[in-house]
Amino acid sequence: MNKINPKLFDHLKEKYYRNLLSPNDEKSYFIAEKGDRAEIELFKILKNKIPKSWILKPNYWIQYSRTNEIDIIIFTGKFVWLVECKNYSGVFEYMDGNCYRNKKPINNEISFAQNRKNAIENILSDNKLNGVPVYSSMIFMDNECDVKNDRDSGIELVMRYRLSRHINEMVQRYQTLPDYFDNLHLEQTIDRYRINHPFPPKIIPVTLFKEAKTGIHCAICYSYLLKNHYKTIECQDCGYIEYKTEARLRTTAELGMLFYHDDKILTPKNIVTFSGQVKEKDAFLKSLYRKWPTHSSHRGVYYHNFGLPYEAIRHKLKKSK
Ligand SMILES: [Zn+2]
Repeated sequence: MNKINPKLFDHLKEKYYRNLLSPNDEKSYFIAEKGDRAEIELFKILKNKIPKSWILKPNYWIQYSRTNEIDIIIFTGKFVWLVECKNYSGVFEYMDGNCYRNKKPINNEISFAQNRKNAIENILSDNKLNGVPVYSSMIFMDNECDVKNDRDSGIELVMRYRLSRHINEMVQRYQTLPDYFDNLHLEQTIDRYRINHPFPPKIIPVTLFKEAKTGIHCAICYSYLLKNHYKTIECQDCGYIEYKTEARLRTTAELGMLFYHDDKILTPKNIVTFSGQVKEKDAFLKSLYRKWPTHSSHRGVYYHNFGLPYEAIRHKLKKSK
């Protein structure tokens, strides 16, 4: 698979803080924000609690007879774990094979989760890996959400207060299983069915480049109120301190993600203008030097556009110097 589009939410968020969001898009951004907050939180909790050798991949789309999105897929080396994040409030019920929320019928999220699990199991058996177990959990992140079910669906329904215990159970399950799967092979096998998000973010015309709010913003709270130190910048709103070199790479990634469709957007001039660092031009570009892959054209050099946020590409950038 080639280039992956950025997540709609990441794109909307950057657009929002760069003043490029139309009033219509603004509404979808605020709706997306609530769901995404729960997903990010779940991802962080998992990352902190699971063994380092497990591989986590969020927003994983696969094509196997139909298209499925897995919120988080985890390759443990002994089994595959599919994690679905739900942000319901109120009561979620699974009764007689149907789903209800506060007594009203809703989409059958359990059967969707079963479809995703079946798809992964089928991929494994097509590739002679049918000995690898697949587990699927649905995590209800809202503290106030109550969950009831009258039968086993093969999907583990986990309320927020039980999340830590559930993760520990998965780790224990892992420890009791024999160690004989090649995790990399497993991951690569399933990756062959991975597809790009079928709903790419709306493309921003490059002519709007000049209207984007310029400058470096905080990596955490997106505030533009940053205090300049010798090697770092300090956010005046949340206190977050980031190395300048890091912030420069991140801001370059942000420009690339906003115009993810345009392979030639990352010219030195555009990057420096966008980051508001015209006076520090040389220092800025030095941070990219040798780390960020470049291409050259008859119009000069430009940096490779990964089209993704910094977090998703930092491991692809060369280490130091
Ligand atoms: Zn901040």
